[in-house]
Amino acid sequence: MPDPTESASRRLLVRLRETLAEPAAGQERLDRITALIAEQMGTHVCSIYLFRDADTLELCATEGLKPESVHQTRLRVGEGLVGRVAKTARPINTGNAPQERGFRYMPETGEEIFSAFLGVPIQRLGERLGVLVVQSKEARQYSDDEVYALEVVAMVLAEMTELGAFVGEGEALAALHQRPVMFQGTVGQEGVAVGHVWLHEPRVVIANPIADDFETEMRRLHEAVDRLRVTVDEMLNAAPSGDKDQLQVLEAYRMFANSRGWKRRMEEDIARGLSAEAAVEKEQSAARARMQTVPDPYLRERLHDLDDLSNRLLRILTGQGEHTGAERPADPILIARNIGPGELLDYGRSLRGVVLEEGSVGSHAAVVARALAIPLIVNAQRITTEALNGDPILVDGEQGIVHLRPEETVATAFNDKIAMQAKAQQRYATIRKEPALTLCGQRIALHMNAGLMADLPSLESSGAEGVGLFRTELQFLVRSKVPKRSEVAALYARVMDAAEDKRVVFRTLDIGSDKVLSYMKPQDEPNPALGWRAIRVGLDRPGVLRMQLQALIRAANGRPLAVMFPFVAQLEEFRIARDHLMCEIDREGRLGRPLPEKVEIGAMLETPSMAFSPRQFYEEADFISIGGNDLKQFFFAADRENERVRRRYDTLNVSFLSFLEQIVKRCEDTGTPLSFCGEDAGRPVEALCFAAIGLRSLSMRPASIGPVKHMLRRSNLAEARAVIDTARASGAQSVRPAIMDWLRRRD
Ligand code: PEP
Ligand code: MG
Repeated sequence: MPDPTESASRRLLVRLRETLAEPAAGQERLDRITALIAEQMGTHVCSIYLFRDADTLELCATEGLKPESVHQTRLRVGEGLVGRVAKTARPINTGNAPQERGFRYMPETGEEIFSAFLGVPIQRLGERLGVLVVQSKEARQYSDDEVYALEVVAMVLAEMTELGAFVGEGEALAALHQRPVMFQGTVGQEGVAVGHVWLHEPRVVIANPIADDFETEMRRLHEAVDRLRVTVDEMLNAAPSGDKDQLQVLEAYRMFANSRGWKRRMEEDIARGLSAEAAVEKEQSAARARMQTVPDPYLRERLHDLDDLSNRLLRILTGQGEHTGAERPADPILIARNIGPGELLDYGRSLRGVVLEEGSVGSHAAVVARALAIPLIVNAQRITTEALNGDPILVDGEQGIVHLRPEETVATAFNDKIAMQAKAQQRYATIRKEPALTLCGQRIALHMNAGLMADLPSLESSGAEGVGLFRTELQFLVRSKVPKRSEVAALYARVMDAAEDKRVVFRTLDIGSDKVLSYMKPQDEPNPALGWRAIRVGLDRPGVLRMQLQALIRAANGRPLAVMFPFVAQLEEFRIARDHLMCEIDREGRLGRPLPEKVEIGAMLETPSMAFSPRQFYEEADFISIGGNDLKQFFFAADRENERVRRRYDTLNVSFLSFLEQIVKRCEDTGTPLSFCGEDAGRPVEALCFAAIGLRSLSMRPASIGPVKHMLRRSNLAEARAVIDTARASGAQSVRPAIMDWLRRRD
């Protein structure tokens, strides 16, 4: 550990603190700091470059370069050595700058006489703020101690920038977190929302990054680490012993909390002049920088663990917990790096929207957000570093765009869009109780998809005729262990009670692929979407399937019961699954329990194989529901979770429509009731085309029922069919352009 009285960085930090304590305007402060660093480090130049916008760095203060270049010299990220430091977030230390790869000479600065160059990033927890540079005339390499000193100073500058220390009049800097920022993410759940930011994990603000007293800071760090260790031990003791995954994560936490290397590095940072919390944050920043470059997902996970642990340590040190005193806005839009399904459920429908920095369309949080019908954007990079509690925010879940602190014109346009949607909603409300009857007199049954008890009120408000798909896996996904049969039965009974006499189709567990239960052993399959999932798991390990079937029979308690099996790929699978249900009915009957008054046993048609299955499948299934999300991904061999290919193939592609039509015909031949329950059923144009090729029942998100019904009630299916047929005969790839054109002309 360096001697705290000797270290160059410590001396520099003590002087820096004195300078920062003096009253001064923003620009003056920056000027004093560059002069101080150059003097203390014995360099000819010290310059501070800060981001003007996401791609441009501006020279904001300098000692040693021509003063007229301040606020004039600008560089793009990646341009010159300064731009390279900003891009890679790594220091560049060279004795011969002009010879260095990417060097760019800027004549207005007069820097040609300086040979040695050391640039370090000014960053705060992955948020890049600028670059701090020292230069010297002599061709020398800066020592490790000098590099370290400059890094520590850059970190203090980042903290002070965050606190607004350099904000001021004229040429000084604009305050951070005040400008409008737009993020392009990926749509996890459609919908639009206007509200204010509510951070899932509030940012910890470090008011004093420079240590007043070395001994005190060391003691604070040691006490905080001790408390952290106790907390982790308590978490480990409280964790269920059967939950191997959770135990594994907590063991990793314990390992880090006890890691000598981690503690030693933080002690060294304190010895060099940082406060305890600044030392924690410095190591956290380093871990985050590593996280971005580590390709191995396992190692990245462990770095995530370390990050989480650093957050806990910071909270202990600063006393800033989840409750920062900030008041939750009335219209909260939740911002988080990531969030578990259980946590999201706890927030429930109080949220207007959710924006995640990480996450994926198929994550459990996305599944829950979909069930809660809350607009969700995933993959909105850097949002947690930019957003502050209470910031105004607009979420456009149609385009995957988030506007943080939007300009007035953007907010106005957005509000107009929402007002138009509200108007449309009013229009839909007036037809809520009307049937989806087309102009040609064809009635289409519209059902809703659900997965939580919280969905059931939508049955009434949306005007749905029933629940066409109840995804039972949600109850399993949000738990840390398999729910008990009594709990499962209680949920199903409440769902049936709430639905009253409307039909609810329960789909048995569809896990595997994107829906992985935390308590299920990970399968590490090369291609999970084509792997051991849904009914395949149910048939190979029938324990849970049978428990679920028993729960359904008990929940029905004499009422009619409709069950369907997901991902059936051959007739035999359907037959075995059906036999399990018949067996359970038999068993429950022998136990003297009331049996369902009527049992319907259906299958989802989600693999192309079932479109070509023996006629017996269509005869034996009481009903069939097309799982278009999966069917489409297998038909086009295009992963539904892969952004690159997800939208490549249109649902209204002529081949896919003809394929669906073939299924419709086979069902007509055998008189098998058919419905469509994938996301496409809730898109008005798609729904119209499905009806035109013969589908008579659609199941969708509750919010889609109004728009779909509105479209159907204004349409003549025979006319739509004629447009489709003409487009098909013309060799078009998709019937969409023709249908859209027809709708435009018609309306
Ligand atoms: C489908 O595949 O269309 C479907 C409804 O099932 P899920 O989206 O739950 O896989
Ligand atoms: Mg499916």
